[in-house]
This record gives sequence, C-alpha cells and structure tokens, in this order.
Amino acid sequence: MAARKGVLLVISAPSGTGKSTLVHELLRRMEDVEFSVSFTTRKMREGEADGLDYHFIDRGRFDAMIGSGEFLEWADVFRERYGTGRSVSLLKLASGRDLILDIDIQGGRQVRASGIDAVSVFVLPPSFPTLKSRLLSRGSDSDEQVATRLAMARGEADEVKYYDYVVVNDDLESAVDQLATILSAERLRVSRRGPVTEDILSTFPAE
Ligand code: ADP
Ligand code: 5GP
Repeated sequence: MAARKGVLLVISAPSGTGKSTLVHELLRRMEDVEFSVSFTTRKMREGEADGLDYHFIDRGRFDAMIGSGEFLEWADVFRERYGTGRSVSLLKLASGRDLILDIDIQGGRQVRASGIDAVSVFVLPPSFPTLKSRLLSRGSDSDEQVATRLAMARGEADEVKYYDYVVVNDDLESAVDQLATILSAERLRVSRRGPVTEDILSTFPAE
C-alpha cells in the first residue's frame, strides 16, 4: 500500500508556556511522529545533544544555508537564528512520517505563507501570571531574559487567531490529550487517506 502523506504539525507558543514539555510528552505517547530537529546558532544548553535537540551550527554556516535556500523557514529569535531544514522535512512528509515543528510565530507565518499543507497549533498558558511563574521556576534564564520573554509574550499571544487550533496548557495531561486528539483527527482527513480509500474502492465492482 502506498504511504499516506505525513502531517506537518506546527506548534508555537510564548516562551515558558510549556511547549517543549508538551511536545516531549506527545512524542513519548504517540508512534510514527517525529520531532523536526532545527538548526540554530545559539549555544548548546546543559542536557542538550547536537543532532537531537538542535543541529548547533555557527552563524557563517547558517547564513550560507539561507543563501542556498536550504530552510523551509527561519527566524531571528532572542538574537539567535533558528531554522527548519527544507529537503529533509519534505522527504519525511512524502514518505508518510508526521513531523512536529516547534517554531516561533515568525516561522509559523512563513510556513502559512509558503502554502505547504500544515496544521498549526498555538499553545497558551492558563494566564499571564502562570506564564511568569513558569519562566521563573524553569530557572534557565536570567532576570533580563525572563523580562524580555514576558515583554514579547503579549504580541506573540495575539497571533493565536491565525492558527488552526488552540491548546491551553493548564493541566499537562489534558493538554497532551488535546494535542494527541488533534494529530489523530488530522491523520484521518480524506486528503491524507488517498492510498487507503483507493485500495478499498478498488475492491468494489465497477459501476
Ligand atoms: P517552553 O518550551 O514553552 O519555553 P517549557 O516546556 O520549558 O516551556 O516549560 C516551562 C516551565 O513550565 C518548565 O519548568 C516546565 O516544567 C513547566 N511546565 C510546563 N508545562 C506545565 C504544566 N502544564 N503545569 C505546570 N508546569 C508546567
Ligand atoms: P529555545 O532557544 O528556547 O530552544 O527556543 C527559542 C524559540 O525558538 C522557541 O520559541 C522555539 O519554538 C523557537 N524555534 C526553535 N526552532 C525553531 C526553528 O527552526 N524556526 C523558528 N522560526 N523558530 C524556532
């Protein structure tokens, strides 16, 4: 049977909402879905691995990749560059793999503008005070970085109206359930079920 087309699931959220946590849990729970490993110029954090969390590259290589059109989308986020490799993503989707893109709202806009078949999910925190306390309790950012992220959060949250779905990350398990439901439903779209429906219809007698 021919492979179905994979789902390109774009997930964006203001920093500190819990997007990485959610994506991690979704990947643990669901099969046949892969995390799209982005390229970035930012430094590797403790606990991260090259090729697993990101492809960590320098600015020269990143800009050369921009020049040769190797990114499906890319953006400057918090003074560093981040981008999604084009060919690897398209190959995976064509072979029927579902792909999760954890990208910022600028990247989300570029994916929408590209006309590529994508499903977008915006994750919101239950409230601004909760977002603030999550950023503080994560403990990975300086006070200045927390302030920058919070200052950007309002404008980012306004982007929710351009996305297909919204998930509120209040209780983690419920939010993961909702993400899994979105992916499961999107896998069943008629537009992605061509190979299955054609195989079944071919067993019917001709009219
Ligand atoms: P993001 O990737 O959106 O920047 P993280 O996944 O790093 O955010 O989460 C930010 C902090 O909030 C982390 O300390 C994480 O453990 C915590 N967190 C994530 N989701 C929840 C949740 N549903 N309830 C409580 N804390 C959460
Ligand atoms: P972090 O440095 O905390 O891992 O990520 C910072 C921000 O960059 C997050 O909002 C994350 O979604 C975004 N990001 C990660 N990879 C990409 C990418 O490939 N493209 C874009 N546009 N944003 C990305």
